[in-house]
Amino acid sequence: MSRSQNGWSAGPDHEIGGLDTSPVPGTTVTLPQGVRRGDVATVLLFVAERFHHTVEPLHAHQCWGYAYRKIRGSSSVLSNHASGTAIDLNAPAHPLGARGTFTREKIAAIRRILAFCDGTVRWGGDYRHRKDEMHFEIVRPAGQVALIARKIELARHHAG
Ligand SMILES: [Zn+2]
Repeated sequence: MSRSQNGWSAGPDHEIGGLDTSPVPGTTVTLPQGVRRGDVATVLLFVAERFHHTVEPLHAHQCWGYAYRKIRGSSSVLSNHASGTAIDLNAPAHPLGARGTFTREKIAAIRRILAFCDGTVRWGGDYRHRKDEMHFEIVRPAGQVALIARKIELARHHAG
């Protein structure tokens, strides 16, 4: 079984339990190939939803999910996109390698989303070397992701 950089199984969609191609909740924006079905989708679609409402509106055709590929610039390490556990939001405005593509206020809003997710999601703007400010990824195992997915479902239930 191949694994992506974060340790999640990677491969064609039928090998990783399928992909969820639902639109980001409350929007018509889709992540073209979707994200890993189940708790990962719950968490990453929540991140995209909160990004849309509290950071900046999502633009159609500029957001990405699953892609079976290696990390750009690496000959061997599979990208977390290859396990369906990473998303890119408003990619053209926040290109790989660029720094400072978000205002201070927007970064504060991103921090609030990450805080809600209790360390299960990492932002590419926090990479130490090459920044990837469009990018959000799961960095914890399934058990912890499940807890955050339940927390999101509870929050939705109480809001709805
Ligand atoms: Zn990415």
